[in-house]
Amino acid sequence: MFIDIHELEKDALEFQETLKPGRIGFGSEIKQLEPLTTTGVAELLGQEIHLSGTLRTAVETICDRCLEPTRRPIDIEYDLFYRPMKSIAREEEIEVKPAELEIGFYEGHGLELDEVLKEQVLLTLPMKNVCREDCAGLCPQCGQNRNLAVCSCKTEKIDARLAGLESFKKQ
Ligand SMILES: [Zn+2]
Ligand SMILES: [Zn+2]
Repeated sequence: MFIDIHELEKDALEFQETLKPGRIGFGSEIKQLEPLTTTGVAELLGQEIHLSGTLRTAVETICDRCLEPTRRPIDIEYDLFYRPMKSIAREEEIEVKPAELEIGFYEGHGLELDEVLKEQVLLTLPMKNVCREDCAGLCPQCGQNRNLAVCSCKTEKIDARLAGLESFKKQ
């Protein structure tokens, strides 16, 4: 849905949207498992667009360490401000204060709600993409998921040439 400032000039806009998986492209690393539902209000404050509402969905990411898919339910509230792009001069851009990083910008005469929702989902996901903080990962030697079972591999690295010799001897 496109949020048009000319519409907001007349009245605040209440919205309720359900976006099926596939509507928003989250990239190959993130799979949307459930429809994304959002309800909220868009209003114009001077030239700023104020967006507030709730967002609910569930996505799946692959753990960086153990490669297992991890389901991540998302249930958040958002409260966002968007300024017109032309309102910032180049010098100002360099000096954006940390507290102002919450403020986004819109180009032209409005903004695409899908883009806002996508950004909010991505911001919810942790920087470190692991299924859990203490994920033990895969054994580099046998590939065993060490969260599920302990393998008998020694922790020191086997010299690649010696490993080749080992398999040669077995034949
Ligand atoms: Zn993991
Ligand atoms: Zn192992």
